[in-house]
Amino acid sequence: MSGYNSELQSLPSNLDFNTNSESTISVFRCEKCGTVFQNKGGEKKCLLCNHDSLVEEQITVSDERLYIIPFIKSQKEAIFNYKKAVFWNPFVPMFFKKKSTIMNIKKIYLPSYFLEVHVDGNVSFFAGDKSKVKKNGEKVFETKRYDVLLSTNFDYFPFFVSTYSKLPEELFELVCEVKNPILQEYDDSLIKDVSVVQSDIENVDVAAMIREKVNKHCLSTIRKGIKHQLKKVQQNDLQIHSNSIKKVLCPVYLLTISYRGHDYYYLMNGENGRDYAQICFGKIEIAIFSLFLVIIISLISYLIVMYL
Ligand SMILES: [Zn+2]
Repeated sequence: MSGYNSELQSLPSNLDFNTNSESTISVFRCEKCGTVFQNKGGEKKCLLCNHDSLVEEQITVSDERLYIIPFIKSQKEAIFNYKKAVFWNPFVPMFFKKKSTIMNIKKIYLPSYFLEVHVDGNVSFFAGDKSKVKKNGEKVFETKRYDVLLSTNFDYFPFFVSTYSKLPEELFELVCEVKNPILQEYDDSLIKDVSVVQSDIENVDVAAMIREKVNKHCLSTIRKGIKHQLKKVQQNDLQIHSNSIKKVLCPVYLLTISYRGHDYYYLMNGENGRDYAQICFGKIEIAIFSLFLVIIISLISYLIVMYL
């Protein structure tokens, strides 16, 4: 494959946007969760955990070619979508619906990589089918075994991976995976009032994450195509190649709800509005709703008995 890097193993040395120059930037570090961000939005609390012990410091970053997906959706739309996700659900605790909770919704940029991934190579499987056969007048199970060798050719574009570890990766995938994102070259004016979260995953770990995700996805797709009951990977010779690696800032609205010792997140994509709310069900709310149902059913039964 000409034009592709030979292995993602070499991702860190093949980042095409690295330059030799460095800059010093002013950032805030949260003393509770460790999140580091450029505070363009003038936040008083941590973007993630809402803690107010922030320490200002200077860090050195290498100047990189950076891309950005500009915000299209407003904060008002984010609040509207969040309310839609929780307000009409009677089981969601009141704490999720309080104005003081909703007010913590933040407009931020999350760091990520976008890249093209191509996978080829062979995977061999042990496969088998169990069937009942008659032996000496008795019915017994017999397994027929097969060796299955499959060649693969997958393309993923764009392939996304978040480089901020403190927010669940699945949540980022659910909300930020977009087919045709509008990428613009980074410009200071695009982030003038939006805080920017700094990456906290080393390139070598990002490369390992990508390999793991790609491998998992490829193997599960290949397995679905094997029409046998048993299938076990015997040898995996998948080759993963990457191309067009871009460092991209993704626009999101983030709300962290800390409730009874757990953090729940609401995330909305600031470009297309795709969102996801992690919620929990409150015991009191379930009890109140159940009581309400019992009263309604009793009332209807009473009316039926009295008037029919
Ligand atoms: Zn924090």
